[in-house]
Amino acid sequence: MSARLEKLASEALGELSGASSMDAVLQLKTRYLGRKGEVASLLKELGSLSPEERKKAGEAINAVKARLEEAFDAKVAALEAGGRAERLQRERIDITLPGRTIRPGRMHPVTQVMEEIEEIFSGLGFDVAEGPEVELDYYNFEALNLPKDHPARDMQDTFYVSDEVLLRTHTSPVQIRVMEKERPPLRVIAPGTVYRRDSDITHTPMFHQVEGFMVDKGVTFSNLKGVLTHFLHSLFGDKTDIRFRPSFFPFTEPSAEIDIRCVICGGSGCRVCKGSGWLEILGAGMIHPEVFRSVKYDPEEFTGFAFGLGIERIAMLKFGIEDIRMFFENDLRFLRQF
Ligand SMILES: [Zn+2]
Repeated sequence: MSARLEKLASEALGELSGASSMDAVLQLKTRYLGRKGEVASLLKELGSLSPEERKKAGEAINAVKARLEEAFDAKVAALEAGGRAERLQRERIDITLPGRTIRPGRMHPVTQVMEEIEEIFSGLGFDVAEGPEVELDYYNFEALNLPKDHPARDMQDTFYVSDEVLLRTHTSPVQIRVMEKERPPLRVIAPGTVYRRDSDITHTPMFHQVEGFMVDKGVTFSNLKGVLTHFLHSLFGDKTDIRFRPSFFPFTEPSAEIDIRCVICGGSGCRVCKGSGWLEILGAGMIHPEVFRSVKYDPEEFTGFAFGLGIERIAMLKFGIEDIRMFFENDLRFLRQF
């Protein structure tokens, strides 16, 4: 009996030390120490022994059983500790790695200027209106006193979709659409995208304009001067010199172009102002009676002024940008500066 016990113990301990997984250890434990395991079957044999031998053998078996149980418990504890250590190692976070920078988005410079312009006019009680970019010839030209045979229609500049449909060349058609739907008093600005067949250092085929107009009984050229002077002073500073020059647009009469003293050279003359000391900023005028007739307003009853400006041009002057195409190249090195 004692030889068998020794053999069993050394086999069990040998296998146990070779077991590397928790599963293998538990299987071995069942095999040696389980209810139908090897130790249990030895205990069953005790019945066939004499009382004296039985006592001795029983003590020996229980001693081996205790040794094995202790060895199994130690192995289980060691495997558990090893598993935890391994998991800690695997899940370790290296806090010395540099973090990933989340770069916040920024407003495009054109959007920034557009919003600044909207804010100035909102302060004067102007509403913001929008219209379609794919427009009917009627709204883009005809209703603005530019009939089909009018010499001021420059065919070269317009993207036509069909004879009657085009990409709007200015935001002025919004003026017609708003006046068709509403009655004066009106104070509206219409910012938006426009298209012309033109591309060089100061022109892109797509750019942005703001159209504005005010219509009521008794609106005069003084109102035009007052509103636009306030606007330009808000945008470029109170000290900015402004001048109004007579001009021509088919949809206004009289018409004016409005210049500011060159913000680059202060008026002494530079490349941007082409040596003149002045920068052309706005086109404006009193809304032509023919335009009022096309939206069924009585030009004897209502008067109004309208104006338009290019947003990229303002942004170029404000930020000192020399090439308009930079706005649309999506170069992050450029865009991150704003
Ligand atoms: Zn200048």
